[in-house]
Parts: sequence; C-alpha cells; structure tokens
Amino acid sequence: MFPASFDYVAAHSVEEALQLMAKHGEEGKLLAGGHSLLPAMKLRLAAPRVLIDLATVPGLSDIRVDGKNLVIGALTVHADIAGSELVRKHLPGLADAASVIGDVQVRNRGTIGGSVAHADPAADLPVILTALDASFVVQSANGRHTFAADDFFTDFYTTAMNANEILTEIYLPMPPSGTGTAYAKLPHPASGYVVVSAGALITKQASGTCAAARVAIGGLGSGPIRAIATEMEMQGKPLTPQTIAAAAAKAAEETDPMEDSYASADYKRHVATVYARKAIEAALERARN
Ligand SMILES: Cc1cc2nc3c(=O)[nH]c(=O)nc-3n(C[C@H](O)[C@H](O)[C@H](O)COP(=O)(O)OP(=O)(O)OC[C@H]3O[C@@H](n4cnc5c(N)ncnc54)[C@H](O)[C@@H]3O)c2cc1C
Repeated sequence: MFPASFDYVAAHSVEEALQLMAKHGEEGKLLAGGHSLLPAMKLRLAAPRVLIDLATVPGLSDIRVDGKNLVIGALTVHADIAGSELVRKHLPGLADAASVIGDVQVRNRGTIGGSVAHADPAADLPVILTALDASFVVQSANGRHTFAADDFFTDFYTTAMNANEILTEIYLPMPPSGTGTAYAKLPHPASGYVVVSAGALITKQASGTCAAARVAIGGLGSGPIRAIATEMEMQGKPLTPQTIAAAAAKAAEETDPMEDSYASADYKRHVATVYARKAIEAALERARN
C-alpha cells in the first residue's frame, strides 16, 4: 500500500511549524511519530499534500518536574514514558499505559502528543491522562492556552484543538502522598488496541478512607469517559473490597457502547466493571506502598 504523493518539510521550531501550517493551510498536516498518520495515508483515508515534521523541533521530548507538575513534551515517545524514572515514581499508571501500546516499534516511534491529537477511541493514553487530570498546552500564532483533559476529547478522532494549533506539552499534577495510579487494559487479540480499559487515581487517608478518586474508562464511547458514579461511590468511604466492588460495578453506568465484530455492548459494559476494579485495586495497592 502506498500513500498519495506528498512533500515533506522539517520544522526546526514551533514558530516555524506554525508558519508552515499557515502557509499550507488544509493541504498541510503535522507529522510526529507517523504511526497513526502514515497508516491512514496508506489506506487513503488521509491525503495531505505536505507533511510538516515536528520530530525535528528540539525541546519537545523532555520529561521534567515543574513545581507540582510532571511535564511531558508532546514529542516524547511511548517507550521513553514507559521507562522514565520520574513517571514510574510519581505516576506509574501512565507508565502502565505507555508500556502496553502496540509493539516495540510502535512504542519507539509513536508520541504522546500524536496519540492525544489523533484521539483514537481505542487508544490507551487518552484514558489514563483523563484519570490523571492532565492539562494539554497548545500553541498557535495567537499564543498558548491550555485544555483540561475532561474538555479535550470531544468526539471520535476529534479534540477541542483547532487545526492551526500545535500540542506542545502535557501537564500532570503530581498527586499527594497516599495516592496510587494504575491502568488496566483488555487488548483486542488481533490489533492490540483497547477493547475496554480503565485508568484510576486513588488517594487514601491514613485512616484508609478515600480522599479522592478519578476513574476513566476507554472503549465505551467516542473517547475516554469519566466514571463519575464509580468515583462518588468511593469518596469518603473506607476502601474495603466491598466498597471497591460496589464502585466498580457502576463503571459503565449511563454508557452506550457501540457493538462491533469482536464485542457486544453488554460484554463491553461488563468488562468495564472488571477492568475498573483491576485498576482501582492496583492503584490502591500502590497508594499503600
Ligand atoms: C501497529 C500499530 C499498533 C498500535 N497499537 C496501539 C495501541 O495498542 N494503543 C494505542 O494507544 N495506540 C496504538 N497505536 C497508535 C500509536 O500509539 C501512534 O503512535 C499514536 O496514536 C500516534 O502518535 P504518532 O506520534 O505516531 O502521531 P502521527 O501519526 O504522526 O500523527 C497522528 C495525528 O496527530 C497529529 N499530531 C501529531 N502530533 C501533533 C501535535 N504535537 N500537535 C497537533 N497535532 C499533532 C498529526 O497531524 C496526525 O493527524 C498503534 C499504531 C500501530 C501502527
């Protein structure tokens, strides 16, 4: 399979990339790791005339601490996130998710920014980033602004970003002590993409009650879905197996998943309760240690 012919241009700064986007308009497309865009081009689902490479822009692939946030550059590849000491120490749930994406080649080329911007409903990172309350920093010719994860994934393959904007960084609040994070995924046996997945952030008080919970589910809708009923079921209660089971049982409430050739809607709803429980239990285990 070959894509339609296209031109390639390497950007060397975010500003240059923005100028190239303005110059080429709808005919231009940003290229990061190419592991979603190039397959789409080969299938002729996309046919940009010009690819504007972001991988040649320095400074977009760092993982650093900034005050109370962990900051990840948009061009950071999945393998670097999975292996990062900082990520493993502060937000191991993110490392869980990055380490189960595709195969080694995909993890060495695909970027967090590309995954988020592509907004595939079966992607891993949008789910855990929603559970971790991430903020997405985007830049345009008019300046920078930030989207909360809850407002970012608006539809299938669609985000709140405008076509003239570049995602540059992702801010992740570093949670207080007594917090654990985790991600659990049922992969499709053929593609490895998400059938259903769950990301959880749980903060427990010394007494063992739940001080804060964020749980996001993937695979049930056009993007990650906050399991608000699950979160509320745990809030302020002792995190006993009974509380967790009752909370996880609500993970698919008010969702309407699409059936496909692999899984019925009922099966997906059931699996969501199982994987929500797995993610919550794993997060709680980390919160204890
Ligand atoms: C065989 C295979 C298996 C895979 N398995 C999984 C899996 O199990 N789980 C999973 O989550 N993903 C999976 N993926 C997808 C993979 O994670 C991709 O790398 C990722 O979705 C896109 O990242 P990228 O850097 O490759 O982006 P690209 O393909 O380069 O770009 C994707 C889209 O985002 C836009 N874009 C890229 N960067 C930016 C930016 N900084 N600002 C604004 N727009 C931008 C591009 O213009 C394009 O529209 C798989 C891919 C392959 C090929």
